[in-house]
Parts: sequence; C-alpha cells; structure tokens
Amino acid sequence: MSDYKFIDHTYDVVVVGAGGSGLRAALGAAQAGLKTACISKVFPTRSHTVAAQGGIAASLANMGPDDWRWHMYDTVKGSDWLGDQDSIEYLCREAPQAVYELEHWGMPFSRTEEGKIYQRPFGGHTTEFGEGPPVQRTCAAADRTGHAMLHTLYGQCVKNDTEFFIEYFAMDLIMDEDGVCRGVTAWKLDDGTLHRFRAQKTILATGGYGRAFFSCTSAHTCTGDGNAMVLRAGLPLQDMEFIQFHPTGIYGAGCLITEGARGEGGYLTNSEGERFMERYAPSVKDLAPRDMVSRAMTIEIREGRGVGPQKDHIFLHLEHLPQETLAARLPGISETAKVFSGVDVTREPIPVLPTVHYNMGGIPTNYHGEVLTKKGDDPDAVVPGLMAVGEAACVSVHGANRLGSNSLIDLVVFGRAAGLRCGATLEAGATQPTMTDNLTDSHIARFDRIRNANGSQSVADLRLEMQKAMQENCAVFRTGDVLDEGVQKIDTVHGKLPDMNVEDRSLIWNTDLMEALEFDNLISQAAVTVNSAANRKESRGAHAREDFAERDDENWMMHTLAWADDAGKVTIDYRPVHNFTMSNEMEYIKPKKRVY
Ligand SMILES: Cc1cc2nc3c(=O)[nH]c(=O)nc-3n(C[C@H](O)[C@H](O)[C@H](O)COP(=O)(O)OP(=O)(O)OC[C@H]3O[C@@H](n4cnc5c(N)ncnc54)[C@H](O)[C@@H]3O)c2cc1C
Repeated sequence: MSDYKFIDHTYDVVVVGAGGSGLRAALGAAQAGLKTACISKVFPTRSHTVAAQGGIAASLANMGPDDWRWHMYDTVKGSDWLGDQDSIEYLCREAPQAVYELEHWGMPFSRTEEGKIYQRPFGGHTTEFGEGPPVQRTCAAADRTGHAMLHTLYGQCVKNDTEFFIEYFAMDLIMDEDGVCRGVTAWKLDDGTLHRFRAQKTILATGGYGRAFFSCTSAHTCTGDGNAMVLRAGLPLQDMEFIQFHPTGIYGAGCLITEGARGEGGYLTNSEGERFMERYAPSVKDLAPRDMVSRAMTIEIREGRGVGPQKDHIFLHLEHLPQETLAARLPGISETAKVFSGVDVTREPIPVLPTVHYNMGGIPTNYHGEVLTKKGDDPDAVVPGLMAVGEAACVSVHGANRLGSNSLIDLVVFGRAAGLRCGATLEAGATQPTMTDNLTDSHIARFDRIRNANGSQSVADLRLEMQKAMQENCAVFRTGDVLDEGVQKIDTVHGKLPDMNVEDRSLIWNTDLMEALEFDNLISQAAVTVNSAANRKESRGAHAREDFAERDDENWMMHTLAWADDAGKVTIDYRPVHNFTMSNEMEYIKPKKRVY
C-alpha cells in the first residue's frame, strides 16, 4: 500500500461536481472570498446538466399572472406531500431572482415579442393554488436550456477564480474520528496521481444515478458517486425509492424528448388514435405530472392499446404544430427524433416509452445545503464539514415526484444557498487540522482492491445484471413480490463483487478501473433503492404499489433513511417530513388527494 502517495492540497471549500449545482455553489463560495476548488471527472461543460432541454421554472409572470406561492403549492402537490415545505418555500420564493441572475450573466434565453424571457407550460404547473388553468412558468433557451445555463455558469466561475481540477475522479470522503468531513480524495485520470483535498467544507454536487437502470435518459457519467461516498462514510441516503420515469424517452434508444414538446402543444395517442390522457387527467390532460403520465402510458400498453408491431409503446404527436414553432422552440428534439428513431417530426409521430430520468432521493440536506443525519433523537443533525446540492441532494423539494423544470431551478437556488452558507460560516484561510494517513488508508485499500480485482466476472456483465434487475423489479408499477425478488437479485449481484475482474492494472486513462469504481458505487445505491421501495407499503408520487394502491399519510408521511454496509446490507429508519413553512407568508399546505 505504501506504493501509493498522495499529493496534498488545501482549500477553504472543495466542490465535487461541475454540473449546474456544483458550478453555482463554487461560484458563490469564490465570490465570498473563499479559496475554492471544483473537481470534476469530466470537463465541466460536459456534465449532464448540458443535456437539459425544456427549461427552468420561476414565477416571473412574463406570459400571464403568476405568483411564487402558486409555484409552491404546485411543487408541494407534485411532491405528493413528501417534500419539506420550508425548503419548497425557499425554492419558489428565490427562483425568480436566481433566473434574473443567470440572465444578467448572459444566459441566452428565448424571448417574447417585448424582449422578456420566454416561458412555456410544463406538467403540474398551474395557477390559483391548483384551481386555475396551467401557467407558462418554465423559462427556456429553445430546447437547449441546460446547455446555455452550464456555459454561462462556467464562464462566471472562471471569471471569479474558481480553481478547476478537471478529469479528477473523486474516490471517498475524508471523515475524522469525530464524524467531521475534512475533504475528499481523488485519482487524476490522465497521469495516475492520487490527490488529497483538505477543506473546511466539502460540497457534493455529483448528480444522479440513472445508470443503475437499463434504460435511462441520463449520461453514462450519472453513477451517483457522491451518494455512494456518503454510504461508505456510514451516513444515510434519503427517499431513494422515488425514481422518476419520464413519459417520453425515445422507444429503444432512451434519449429524452422534452416535456416542453407537450408544453408547446404535443399530445400522446394509443393504438386506437385516442388522446387517452383526457381520461386520466381531465383538466390538465397531457400536461399532468410525469408520474401520472408514465402510469397512464403503462396501463394503455398493458391493456393492449400500445402502438407498433409489439404494441409496446405510445405515439407523441408534434406534426400538427406550425413548422416555425418546431424550428424556433424545439430544434434539438426534432434532430434527436430524426437521429434516434428516423422520424421527421413535421410528418409523423415519435415512438416513446417511459424511461428512467431523475432521482428524487439522495443525500439529505437542509435548505442551506448542509448534510443531515439522524443522531439519537435528532432527525436533523448536521454533519460538520459536509454539504450537498443538485440531483445528488435530497433537500427535499421534490418529495415523491419532481415537477418538470424544477430541477434546474433547484440547482441554482440551492447552489447559491450553499455558497452563501459557506460565506456566512467560514473564515477564509482558517487553519485546518493536519491530515493524517489513517484517515485515508481505507480509500487506498478500496482503490487497490478494485484495481487488482482478478476474478472471473467482467464489470460490464455485472453492471448489466444489476441494470436489468432494477429495470424489471423496480419499475413504474411495483408489488411486494416483484420488489422482494429485486432485493434478492441485487443481493446476488452484490455477492459477486469479490469475483469481479479488472483487466487493466495501469493508473493512466484506465477506463476499465474507472467503470469498476463507478459500478461499485452504483450497486450500493441499487441496493438502497430496491430495499427502500420494498419497505414503503403505500403508493405516493412515483412509488406506485399495486398491492398498496393508496397514499397512507398516517403511517408513511415520512422520509426513508437508508444506510448500507460493505456487504450491501441495508438498514432503514425515518425522518419526519417538515410540516412547517419558512415564513408567515405561506401557511402549511395541508395534504389532500392528488388529482388533476
Ligand atoms: C436529458 C435530460 C434532460 C433534462 N431536462 C431538464 C429540464 O429541462 N429541466 C429541469 O429542470 N431538469 C432537467 N433534467 C434534470 C436536470 O438536468 C438534472 O437533474 C441536473 O442537471 C443535475 O445537475 P447536477 O449539478 O446535480 O449534476 P450533473 O449535471 O449531473 O453533474 C454532475 C457532476 O459531478 C461530477 N462527478 C460525478 N462523480 C464524480 C466523481 N467521482 N469525481 C469527480 N467528479 C464527479 C461530474 O463530472 C459532473 O461535473 C434533465 C435531465 C436529463 C438527463
């Protein structure tokens, strides 16, 4: 083990991840005068945020009346009352400012005739506390909003002297004997050196873990590395059973067709040519929230009304829309549809299927971005030195189901909040405790073990077995039996880890080793996800149990906390949902039946 030597660095703040949330947090910390590093396994502007299409929600009221309180109501209802209402208030109240900030930094939004930021309708966003018609709340840069946002934020970070460590693969959190996070270790992919970043605060912004499933809209890099680091540090993840299936992934390829397509007037049909959403959500129809549309599509297919030779998918129609609208508002997806399904959207419908898209669960935090754990009687105990933002975090504003365009706004609002919190609580250049090897020995041991894995099973085979199990056993609709079988299947894959094989032993550009580390990260999250799903005996948001079809507020209005040990054994506990708001300007929104 002595062969490995660390190169040491000291910063006030280290951000792991350079997607929208990581860049916004790094920018805030740097602006507060703190020495800030941002580590990323890919070049910042290649982070998955770049793929976001439809837009970013904020009640700007550019296209008609809107109010942040309506946005809050919709988000609480969308979350099926699992979201923490103090955090949701913070999100919706701060959203307009966060969008104007992006505008002032040069983000090239689409515009209205008067030159204001263009906004489109998105699922579940309404007016008058759910009583009024759908609202146009989602600010867009055509259908390439994430691209525009990420480039804008990267430019601002460079301007504000954030130091980037690009193509560094973060391995583990450095936790001391008192449970304080003291930084993070990383492997530099292009020269094989190992690095130790010491920091007063470490901010995880590592994104989601869509790649635990076989078919997903997210990039191959979305392996939830930060979530897995948290589990290895002996801390819990929250609400991992809530997986969002996006209704319109391209059949076969999985690539996303934005909900903005329906926002601009697109609609779904079954094999009878029926606009079936009119039956499931009479008032908002095709603009119902994602969990509902995905379930409706699954039912149509199950009942024999799917389209295509196998009757196993659904059509999304855009061909009735004016060509100018398609060219101006949806150019990216027009191209995607052509490339991945050979469809000319001006003439024929796109074949689509619900596809894994977003992780509502993640690292529990408060609305400052500080990571929480349950300690004795305290369900909201702050883990010193550690923060999390973005899709990796569970604030929780999305609860059991996220509304479309509420993630991009989550990235910048809570990225900003984390930066502000660092500014308010840290002293620039403050002395930090000396780093000692005993804090990082376990990191080296894991790295070395996986690097030298010489069993008989390839990483690709094990990963596929996990992905297939998650896809089949943790799907849109769930039952106890199927989930229990999923728990067994994932346990079996976990049991094969000692027999894993990594062929390339080098340290330089070793993608074989990187994929092995990522798979090792994914499998622990798969275990936590399927166990949490088997454990929750009710239906809420994206978690639809056929054996427990109703929401059960009496027994289940609480966050799941799940820990996993090295053998993949999962332990479950709970945190109460925050049933209070942040200010007096909004009262607690009482639960009611979620119909649209
Ligand atoms: C196709 C698609 C379209 C979407 N469209 C929308 C939309 O229109 N509106 C909306 O609100 N939401 C949308 N979403 C969701 C939203 O884009 C994501 O939730 C969000 O971009 C995640 O941002 P993030 O900052 O958390 O992480 P990401 O953008 O995923 O970035 C993660 C970062 O972490 C780094 N990282 C990860 N692991 C490591 C490691 N081990 N070491 C070092 N660095 C690491 C990566 O390099 C990367 O920089 C979409 C998602 C997808 C997949």
